[in-house]
Amino acid sequence: MSSDVAISVRDLNKIYGLGSKNEKVALNNISLQVNKGSIFGLLGPNGAGKSTFINILADLVRKSSGNIDIFGMSQDERLKDVKKLMGIVPQELNIDPFFTPYELLEIQAGLFGVPKNNRRTDEILKLLALEDKSEAYARTLSGGMRRRLLIAKAMVHDPEILILDEPTAGVDVELRANLWANIKKLNKEGKTIIITTHYLHEAEELCNEIAIIDNGNLIKKGTTSNIKSLIDRKQIIISIDSKNFNLEPIIRLDVEFKLNNNTLIINYKPSEIRFNQILDALRSSNIQVKDLTINETKLEDVFLKLTKN
Ligand code: ADP
Repeated sequence: MSSDVAISVRDLNKIYGLGSKNEKVALNNISLQVNKGSIFGLLGPNGAGKSTFINILADLVRKSSGNIDIFGMSQDERLKDVKKLMGIVPQELNIDPFFTPYELLEIQAGLFGVPKNNRRTDEILKLLALEDKSEAYARTLSGGMRRRLLIAKAMVHDPEILILDEPTAGVDVELRANLWANIKKLNKEGKTIIITTHYLHEAEELCNEIAIIDNGNLIKKGTTSNIKSLIDRKQIIISIDSKNFNLEPIIRLDVEFKLNNNTLIINYKPSEIRFNQILDALRSSNIQVKDLTINETKLEDVFLKLTKN
């Protein structure tokens, strides 16, 4: 396994219902590479084709055409070997409620044919901070713990590549940060990680490589600094509560702004201007803020921008 490329996908196509009146092109000639040791984010809105892509990698959906190599091995020719290299974490939190995490990992290891003395059940539970819950019934676990248990299950056969489908969908902010930390830790341990997400900021926080797909087409691939430049834009909408103010300090900020009646809209690049500088300018302008809203760039805005270009 000397290859630096974990996954190589060439001209991958998937058409559901080929020849029927419901024919749907879910993936259109996708080619991309995932480097060994990276955290790769597959981004796209609902219906973009993310799950289809992952399910083809996991051999749960049959591709229409194209080639996939995992660490240099063809998926077509060496399916069994290739599957051993991948651990798949599904999106749904389906866990048998009457087993404990320890039992569930042991059962899963059995399904993968991992011999008893090669099992790492305690180690995996510890890695995912579930060691205290190893004997608890799964039905008593919180949502975040269940999500970690699913990751643990995907790791029993010690795969090189972990694939997580929307790992933080429906997870609150605190748990999300905790999951991110866990994913980063697994990556540090040497796992190549692929996640799908429709949160730009999740990709920004976690991933070092990304691909954006929309409607089955690959519209952008690159490093995270590429995405950062795409989302380097914030908008502040200020409802003004004062009559006498002087816009000079705002003008001096050298940002794009618009004043309409009592609403001031400022567009700025966080990489160039700190929020504090804007607050200072508002104070110097003698602008009393009645209300303030901050809009971050959304994935949809990035799509619009990318598809326009
Ligand atoms: P994502 O995961 O990005 O939300 P999917 O891969 O689930 O996208 O879906 C891509 C497209 O393929 C969607 O238009 C979806 O309706 C369609 N699709 C997904 N699964 C099937 C299926 N089993 N049969 C027919 N169409 C499907």
